[in-house]
Amino acid sequence: MTITVWQATEAGGRLEPSTRPLLEPAQDELVLEVLHCGLCHSDLSMLDNDWGMSAYPLVPGHEVVGRVVQVGAGVDPGVIGELRGLGWISGSCSHCGQCLGGTGNLCSSLEATIVGRQGGFASHVTARQDWAIPLPQGMDPAVAGPLFCGGITVFAPLIDEAVSPTARVAVIGIGGLGHLALQFARAWGCEVTALTTNLTKAEEARGFGAHHVHALGSLSDLAGRFDLVINTVNHALPWAEVMGSLAPRGRLHQIGAVLEPIQVGAFDLIAARRSITGSPTSSPASLLKMVDFCVRHQIQPAVEHLPMDQVNEAIARLRRGDVRYRFVLDQA
Ligand SMILES: [Zn+2]
Ligand SMILES: [Zn+2]
Repeated sequence: MTITVWQATEAGGRLEPSTRPLLEPAQDELVLEVLHCGLCHSDLSMLDNDWGMSAYPLVPGHEVVGRVVQVGAGVDPGVIGELRGLGWISGSCSHCGQCLGGTGNLCSSLEATIVGRQGGFASHVTARQDWAIPLPQGMDPAVAGPLFCGGITVFAPLIDEAVSPTARVAVIGIGGLGHLALQFARAWGCEVTALTTNLTKAEEARGFGAHHVHALGSLSDLAGRFDLVINTVNHALPWAEVMGSLAPRGRLHQIGAVLEPIQVGAFDLIAARRSITGSPTSSPASLLKMVDFCVRHQIQPAVEHLPMDQVNEAIARLRRGDVRYRFVLDQA
């Protein structure tokens, strides 16, 4: 069987259509016919080889919603026809301490959907069955894709760290990640503050669930306020002010892949027992809980749709920050 992919042959290159044979799914893998695929900032980082681990030709795309059309020998063929979502991770070893302990996203032999594998800007994509999450009844497949990378990335600090619903939570950045973080934190029961450099987004931030919206530049007025700050932006911030905005025992949780070191004074940590954490997406169990939580609370990515053959336009607009709030590329 021949499949279609959108691939770049060099760092920063345009995605061009190409064909290749479909690899036979391994024992515990299944093949999804791609229906929709979101465009995540990490696709740009991989396209540009910002992290030094890209291999070309590169097929990006790791926010897939697709239909199971083929399964490996160890997978129940009864799942053929199901709608599944696939994110950054497409496989883990399933027998190490992390996998067995329910934190398979920390497995040392993790397979990422677009690292050494072919991603979702394609007619078909292959993944291990554990990481291809069934879409629950009531979830709109046309907009669900961004939940499987962007969504789980910001749901993880709430569910995996057992954040209290009485917590005061701030979200820095109201973009592809932040607009979902606001929805999750609000539905979790928290008092939610959006921190942004762009106050023209204030009304939309309130629409996503923010009780308060503040300019990032006025952080010094919010000293000692937050139990959790989820930082979704990937550039340097006034770290002393960010730390200062944390309540005693408050935590800065880093999601945005800022490449410069985070400069923090020891006393910002010591005096009020504050901490800094981070996390890479989450486990299949948390993904399953996330999709149920989304249906229960009507949480949805806000997306702009483009047909798959306009993927280069979507990439160009994401580079300019011109998207509200996530692109989803649709197969014809
Ligand atoms: Zn493992
Ligand atoms: Zn992503």
